[in-house]
Amino acid sequence: MKPKPPPPGCPWALFLDFDGTLVELAAHPDHVEVNERLREVLARLRRLQAGALALVSGRSIASLDGLLAPMTLPLAGVHGLERRDARGHIHRPAGAVDRLAALRRTLDGFIAERPGLFYEDKHLALAVHYRAAPQHAGELERFLRRALHELGNGFQLQTGKAVFEVRPAGADKGSAVRAFMAEPPFAGRLPVFAGDDRTDEDAFAAVNALGGISVRVGDGRPTAARYELADVEETLAWLSQTPKH
Ligand SMILES: [Mg+2]
Repeated sequence: MKPKPPPPGCPWALFLDFDGTLVELAAHPDHVEVNERLREVLARLRRLQAGALALVSGRSIASLDGLLAPMTLPLAGVHGLERRDARGHIHRPAGAVDRLAALRRTLDGFIAERPGLFYEDKHLALAVHYRAAPQHAGELERFLRRALHELGNGFQLQTGKAVFEVRPAGADKGSAVRAFMAEPPFAGRLPVFAGDDRTDEDAFAAVNALGGISVRVGDGRPTAARYELADVEETLAWLSQTPKH
């Protein structure tokens, strides 16, 4: 186990993953709720860091907004593929989405024959979850690798906790963090990122390169993060500490 991160300080540019970091992983992404405690933690952090708080998640921006409403935060969605900056401007790649339409159709058929599998349509990407049907993981991966081949260049298969995602290549959580760090109110602050999954490693590397604080939540896998927290509960406790100036 690596050391615990230092208590929140100022000025931080705070980037937080969502599922598995701020809320417990659920069987289905739609089953997650944002409770009062988390709302208070986020509102307080945003105030303390003068707006330099963003969520950097695998969910789409639409999904995060739905969970957080009426609060609106700077967000990076679909592992950095889409981003809403602090001024409210949306950054999103064009073109790739149309090419996912054919995969959507064949995926519907594949999933219909295998109870327990479902996919999360992120518009820019399709994430197939197998948490409830791990026995299908192998054939699901083979199916998606074939589909990826048919999609042609510019797409990649990303793995996470009980999920495979087909997505356009070219952006990740690290590039999202770097993009935020080039803009106010994040620029000039110490970047801090906390996350629990493999896709968070890109953000850990980005933060480390900027001399920031990288925090991995839970799990025992090797990580580039310099600090570790045990679980969601410990993460919320860490974020609730009084900052040292
Ligand atoms: Mg996560």
